[in-house]
Amino acid sequence: MSEGRLPLAADGLQLNFCKTLACNNFGLSDANLYILQHSNPKRPAMVCRECGAFPPLLNNEEVLNELNRLDRYHHDGLPSCKDPQCEHVGLSVHTHKELYHAFGFSGDRQRYRCKACQGTFVDKWSGSNKKLHFQESLLGLLFTGYSVREICRKLEVNPKTFYDHIDQIASRCRRRLADIDARWINHADAYHLTSNYRVLQPHSHNGVFWFATCDAESGYVLCQHTNYSIKDTPIDMPDHDAYRPGCQFVPKSYSAENNSEVNIPTKDLKSRIDVKYQNILARSNVEDPLGNFSQFTYPATGALIRAPYTSYAHYLHILRSLNDDKRVTIFMPQDPVLRSAALSVCLPRIQSGNIDLMYVEQDEHWREGESSEMIDVVLMGWWRDRWAITHQESGASKGVCYLAGSNPNVSHWLKTASTKSIDFYQDRFQLLFEGFINEPRRKLRPAGIHPLLDIFRAWHNLCYQDKSGLTAAQRLGVTEAPMTLKCLLS
Ligand SMILES: [Zn+2]
Ligand SMILES: [Zn+2]
Repeated sequence: MSEGRLPLAADGLQLNFCKTLACNNFGLSDANLYILQHSNPKRPAMVCRECGAFPPLLNNEEVLNELNRLDRYHHDGLPSCKDPQCEHVGLSVHTHKELYHAFGFSGDRQRYRCKACQGTFVDKWSGSNKKLHFQESLLGLLFTGYSVREICRKLEVNPKTFYDHIDQIASRCRRRLADIDARWINHADAYHLTSNYRVLQPHSHNGVFWFATCDAESGYVLCQHTNYSIKDTPIDMPDHDAYRPGCQFVPKSYSAENNSEVNIPTKDLKSRIDVKYQNILARSNVEDPLGNFSQFTYPATGALIRAPYTSYAHYLHILRSLNDDKRVTIFMPQDPVLRSAALSVCLPRIQSGNIDLMYVEQDEHWREGESSEMIDVVLMGWWRDRWAITHQESGASKGVCYLAGSNPNVSHWLKTASTKSIDFYQDRFQLLFEGFINEPRRKLRPAGIHPLLDIFRAWHNLCYQDKSGLTAAQRLGVTEAPMTLKCLLS
């Protein structure tokens, strides 16, 4: 009965349209422009009549539900109106100062009053931290690579207490970051972002992906999300059906569908890009990297969300937190799970010409600032994406594929675009917490890693100093000095 129409728009959001920028149907959500079918789940549900592209359908309502889940998580523990009937519910004091009055103190903690419902609440992290000394020792041990068991023994606590402290510290870190994020968002002239995603636990095959976006130059991380929810239960829907509620969940019965992932050759950039396109086309849903898994085990509890839903929600979360009239640039590695999401949610910005969106791929030994030879332009992949590739004397290559925007000056982008800072962040987390992430009992229980991600983001942004003694927040110009762990916790 839904043949012939697109999944319904939700709250004005309609993400189903042709995503080929050069196509006349780009950005248009009129069902007549597409061939729609969903009687055969093995065939594309939507094909563009103009260019033949087959962007996977999405349930708009479930993208918004995923966005709500990410927002709740991002603001978890921040002071906000708690009344579910109130229009300000969940909007934090840090990002929405104008909605609240400061309203005296409770002990040494700040109290606020909601301007809409007059309800009051306390900022539970505003007073002094009575567990400061203990938590500082705990973090110190954690960052030096001690296992949870060793930390519990040294500090004479049980694992439950350990995890309670980790949760509290994470909450404090989110609060600390919310202030500084807001400072950046308000003061920046433009936003130069770089995004990436990867599996969260490299040895687990549990389908949990970790999306992160940072300021491209300073490396200050704006936000990160995973497609795993401990609070949800997946419904059993073997094939994704964008017309049904709950379709964002990977069903428990999902089994790995791929036995032939082509290994990515390391030598030549162009053949690496080419093989990546083959791997992408081998997915049953080109936007879902889970389709490349040859081994998969569902997490023991909770629900796995189909990666595109998290990716779309990740970019919606970012775009809604940024200032609308400042220009946005997003660099990302070659993958439609990022491209389609960023491109679709940025449609209004593409139409008004204040965005630059591009793929960037480069060899590891590419040297920033060193000159390069002439630029080759090649059309690559099924989509015939237009890549500009250049080489340095050492043989190192770099490629840029300008996806959308009003400034397709590739020689400029070949000099400036990079995903290095987000790769550095994600590499470093996985290296520093290797033991924690890959602990056998955590393989199928990824929830314990979530608070650690927040703590690491705070440490990376505010405490960790580069060779010249500056933190990411200092390089961004939003703080004046590095923060110590102690200061982060107090
Ligand atoms: Zn098209
Ligand atoms: Zn209220």
